[in-house]
Order: sequence, then C-alpha cells, then structure tokens
Amino acid sequence: MTNKLVLFLIALLIVACSAESPEEPAPVVDEPEAEAIHEETDTPVVPLTGLKAEAAEKVDGMQKLTQEIIDSLFSFSELGFQEFETQRYLTQILEENGFTVELGVSGIPSAWWATWGSGKPVIALGSDVDGIPKSSQMPGVAYRQPMIEGAPGHGEGHNSGQALNITAAIAVKEIMEREGLAGTIVLWPGIAEELVATKAWFARDGRYDDVDAVLFTHVSNNLRVGWGRPRGTGLISVEYSFDGVAAHGASDPWRGRSALDAVELMNVGWNFRREHLHPLQRSHYVIVDGGDQPNVVPSKATVWYFIREITAEKIRENFATLQRIAEGAAMMTDTSVSRRIVGAAYPRHFNKPVALAMDENIKAVGLPEWTEDDQTFARALQELMGAEEIKGLATELEGIEEAEEDPVSGGSDDIGDVSWNTPTVTLRFPANVDDLQFHHWSSAMAMATPIAHKGTTAGAKVIAATMLDLIQDPALVEDAWRYFREEQTADVQYESFVGADDEPAIEKNAAIMAQFKDQLAAFYYDPTKYDTYLEQLGIDYPQLERPGSEEEAAETP
Ligand SMILES: [Zn+2]
Repeated sequence: MTNKLVLFLIALLIVACSAESPEEPAPVVDEPEAEAIHEETDTPVVPLTGLKAEAAEKVDGMQKLTQEIIDSLFSFSELGFQEFETQRYLTQILEENGFTVELGVSGIPSAWWATWGSGKPVIALGSDVDGIPKSSQMPGVAYRQPMIEGAPGHGEGHNSGQALNITAAIAVKEIMEREGLAGTIVLWPGIAEELVATKAWFARDGRYDDVDAVLFTHVSNNLRVGWGRPRGTGLISVEYSFDGVAAHGASDPWRGRSALDAVELMNVGWNFRREHLHPLQRSHYVIVDGGDQPNVVPSKATVWYFIREITAEKIRENFATLQRIAEGAAMMTDTSVSRRIVGAAYPRHFNKPVALAMDENIKAVGLPEWTEDDQTFARALQELMGAEEIKGLATELEGIEEAEEDPVSGGSDDIGDVSWNTPTVTLRFPANVDDLQFHHWSSAMAMATPIAHKGTTAGAKVIAATMLDLIQDPALVEDAWRYFREEQTADVQYESFVGADDEPAIEKNAAIMAQFKDQLAAFYYDPTKYDTYLEQLGIDYPQLERPGSEEEAAETP
C-alpha cells in the first residue's frame, strides 16, 4: 500500500465517522453555498433553508398551543391597560419555556418584557393584546350574538398576535440552543394599542435602545409586509379638563361657571375649524365627563380628542390649533383648562431590507389551506356585513407593499414610535376575514375559529424564518441599520409627542373591566376540559343560522 493510499483510506474513515456522529445533526436540506463557506472558514455554518423548514415544522407542531393561546385571550376579553389575565397567562407560558419575564414595564402594571438568549442580534417580537369596548360576540356564528351584553370583546383580533410570536420564538429558540447560535429574543406586548397609549412610552424609556430589529405582527386578512411609509396617520391623544364653579341649576345658576359649556364650545369650535383643515386629517372626540346631574352646574368636565394627520409636523400644527380652541372655550366660560397626553403614535416608517427578507419568507410559506367550512363562514360574515365583494378568504398573496409617496389618511398604530427607534416591520397575517368592520363585534366572529388558528400559524412560520435570517446573516442586520440611518432618518428627526413627565393613562378601562370581570370569568376558556373554545361554547362551526330560527321562520305565515 502506498503512503498516499493509506492517507486516503484514513481520510475516508474520518469522513465516514463524522457523518455518522450523533452530535452532528444531518442537514434537512442541502445548501451548497453554506457548505462552501464551511470549507473556507472552517466555522460551523448551518444550512439556512434547512433551519427554516425545521422551524416551520416546529411551528406546525405547536398548533395546539397556538389555538389555546388565541382562544384563551379571546375569552379574557380584556381592554387596554387592564390585560391582567392575559399577562398572567402569557408570562407563565414564556417562563415555562425558559424566558426571563419582567412585569410592569414603564409604570404600566399590565405590561411585561420577556427575554431569552444572549448577545447579538437582539430581535424583539411585539404584538397587541387588548380588546374593544362593547364588541362581545360569540365566535364561530354568523349572526350577532353578544356573549355578554355590553361587554368588551376582541373586535379587531388582538387575541392572535402573541400566539404567533410565542410559537415562532419557541421554535427558533430550540434551534438556537441546539446549534449554539448567539442572539437574544425579546417578546413584548402592545398594551392598550386601541388607546395608542404605550409604545411611545416604551420607546421613551429606552426599551428598544439595544434592539437590532423589531418584528411586529398585526392581525389582517392576508400575509404581507411593507416598507417605507404605509397608508395611515400618526396621532396625539389628549384630554382637556375644564374646571368651573358648581351652582343650583334653577335657584341661582348665575353663580355657576359650567365646565360642560366649555367642553361643548370647544367641540363647536373644533367642528367649525374642520372645514379649514387639510382633508388628510382625522379627528374625533368623546366626552368622558359631562357632569353628574342636570340641576348641578357641572364644575368639572373632560373631553378626549384624537388628532391625526399624515406627518408629525401636521399633527403638531393641528394640536396647537386645538390647544388655542380649548383656551378660547375656557375664556368664553370663565373656567380654567388643563390637558393631559393620553396617547401618541408617530407616523410609521418600516424598514426596507427587513421587509424584503420577510417577503421572501412570505412567498415560501404561502397562505393557509382553508377548508370549505372556513370559506362558507367567511362569505357568510361578508354577506352579513354588506361587504363590497363576497370573496371569502384570501387564496393568493398580495405581494409586498411598496413605500407610499403620498400616503392617504387612515388609522394609526403606536408601532410608529418604535419604528423611529430601531429597524421595524409589521407582518400582517390572515387570522381574520376581509371587509368586515374593525372596532366592531363583526371582527370578533372569526377570532376563535380555525381561520384565526391557521392564519396565525402561517404568520409564525414567516416570523421564525425572518428571525433566522437576522441571526444567520449579519449583513441583513447591517443593511437594516444602514437603511435606518442613511435613508429613513437622514432628513427626518424623531421627536416624541410624549414628554418626560407624561404618565401612562393606566386607569383607563378599569371601571369597565371591574363591571364585567365576573361575568367574563364564567366564559374563560378551559383547555383542560375542552379541545377548543368553540366546543366549550357548544358551537357547531360554522354556525350560520341562529338555533331555532329555521323552525321559527317556517312557522311564520
Ligand atoms: Zn390593532
């Protein structure tokens, strides 16, 4: 045997042994590029597409957990700043899965911050958790039926996003642990998003300072992501409180100074001014305190405004106008006025490199396979709500949303503040039905059904894959920051609407939740007894007709 041959045989033996070694997991999918890097650098490089496929399998394997989280949060039906059952339930799951949980962040008792891992990159997954007042609705039925009359519900679908983030995080964490990959996973809740009242505070308090990328998720009707400025507005949410003098409304009303008069005059002033504001603005108000009874001149009254526009500059301009109108109303009524910032949302700007990477993952994952029952249910809801087109659930991806040169008006989300602090994208995932009404009971109908469960699982696969992109590809993190520094913030400086002394409005919704808490508790989902919430509620999904309605209809002459 020549020396060469001996060496060759030894080499062959080493290769054969190492291939069978149990410590070395076989790659799920071959990736020649990754292997080439391996040979050159001799550092362990894991095939990325293989890991993504594995993460997707893991997410699929957690479908039961996804369903339980979605159904549980749906049943808690908690409003902003009062998400305490939600907090208890979710943080327990996170702790059981090795996350370190901090409760009560930024002076917000229902908030929390969960972290796992160490080193860079730091990837923060966020999603909102709060519900909508008076949107209590039985899920899985295609007719109006409140579970509890007048109670809150998930009339937008914020009960789904945390299930998405948690399952994605667990899947990626397991892979990172096995492969010894560096990186930190953060999970955080959008508390009181329906009041747009916390993310600017998280940002103010430096919560995103060491974060490399925020992957935010929001319920929708398709899988999509965008970059740049999207459609929609930013806002300032502000309460004006007037202070007057009480008096007997009949015996000596001239001794009174009505705070309610000031509120009404302020609203009249603003409503006249509307005609002369740019049509892209949106503004609305509710009177949160209009006095106690008619025969007592109201010494206190409060009105709560949302002032929305496309740019931060315009929001500030309209806010200054509102302030002058408030002062004018106080002058007219000889009352005094004070104001309080309740919420804020900067106009959003999403990160292009991260969005492009995520869009590739969206294409790879695709939309869920809907059953005929899902489609029948979705069409029934669209029929019920008078949708423009009865098209059922999405079966085709819509593609990436390009930056809007001139965004049109619409809603706001305080993820905007996060997006000006660190590279951020929002993944929209298909857990709800298109063309219903948001902030309305109709948007709760599908949110504890297989539509929500499957749409959330699809979204989790996209987030897991994008996390792996960020962890495995340092160039993507660099690109994200380059875009953030050189393009997004080159000419625009973020200046929060929230000052150092503005406290979060944590008392909001406490009275409503206190009123309904016991009734809601009777409806909490019990996964130890029932496979799904629909089963617990005795609903035969999709339940299109009210039970007994057919017989009744037949009896009616
Ligand atoms: Zn929302």
